[in-house]
Amino acid sequence: MNKKVIGGVIAGIAVVSAVAATYLDYTSATYECHECGAMHKPTLGAYLMGAHIPGKRLLKCPHCGNRNWHYKAIEV
Ligand SMILES: [Zn+2]
Repeated sequence: MNKKVIGGVIAGIAVVSAVAATYLDYTSATYECHECGAMHKPTLGAYLMGAHIPGKRLLKCPHCGNRNWHYKAIEV
């Protein structure tokens, strides 16, 4: 293997692990609406499109319809 191939393999592994980490985060995450306190799990599309900062994600609440920062909660 030359360096280009090795670089490609490493980049591929990085992408796969980033996707896996995102997917695991999505499957384990439940979010709590800042407005009404309802707990819900966003669709994968909403999850991926939502802006986020550590511990919070911008989502639309299915209960009250508000679009706001949802706290990430541990699923029970
Ligand atoms: Zn709400």
